[in-house]
Amino acid sequence: MYVHQRQGSLEVICGPMFSGKSEELIRRIKRAIIARQRVQVFKPALDDRYDVSAIASHSQRKHDAIPVKDSEELRRHLDPEAEVVALDEVQFLDEGLLAVIDGLAARGVRVIAAGLDQDSNGEPFGIMPILLAKAEYITKLQAICMVCGAAAGRTQRLVHTGGQVLVGAAEAYEARCRHCHEIPD
Ligand code: ADP
Ligand code: ZN
Repeated sequence: MYVHQRQGSLEVICGPMFSGKSEELIRRIKRAIIARQRVQVFKPALDDRYDVSAIASHSQRKHDAIPVKDSEELRRHLDPEAEVVALDEVQFLDEGLLAVIDGLAARGVRVIAAGLDQDSNGEPFGIMPILLAKAEYITKLQAICMVCGAAAGRTQRLVHTGGQVLVGAAEAYEARCRHCHEIPD
């Protein structure tokens, strides 16, 4: 059945580390560019795992991105002509992003936000649970569990340094399924 959709919506791509969120985000960005749409890409400035001004997947796929330290800086960099706004690693951005995204979607922009839905303790990460509640479309990806080979929805921290954020250290994490994931005490 064909249902007419008005322009302006939020798509969320979530899952654990290594599940292909950045790859999927880059795929959608490339298709929007092929469709000759005006696309702007942002990422939090603290994610510098491969490149400060690009988003990169673990499989080395890349796309240019504007690094921003918070939602206010993102707001200042917004191109009023942008038709698609893509955001990577949204779990690291502040609550102010919610109003920015609502404003963009309200005026017809397609917003695509990728990020971790759970932290390494298996708890909802930052503003992600709110974005998931507000989204029209959700893609929840799974990686492969590095212990048993099953589908993995969680991120295991291998190095214990305390705190929720340990940036730019893919080697400090691996994907695990619910059953193999261990929460440190
Ligand atoms: P994310 O943004 O979700 O962290 P990426 O898009 O950066 O994911 O990377 C996905 C790629 O990571 C896969 O295509 C694969 O090449 C690689 N990879 C490494 N470890 C795993 C794993 N345990 N499960 C699935 N893919 C993995
Ligand atoms: Zn497992």
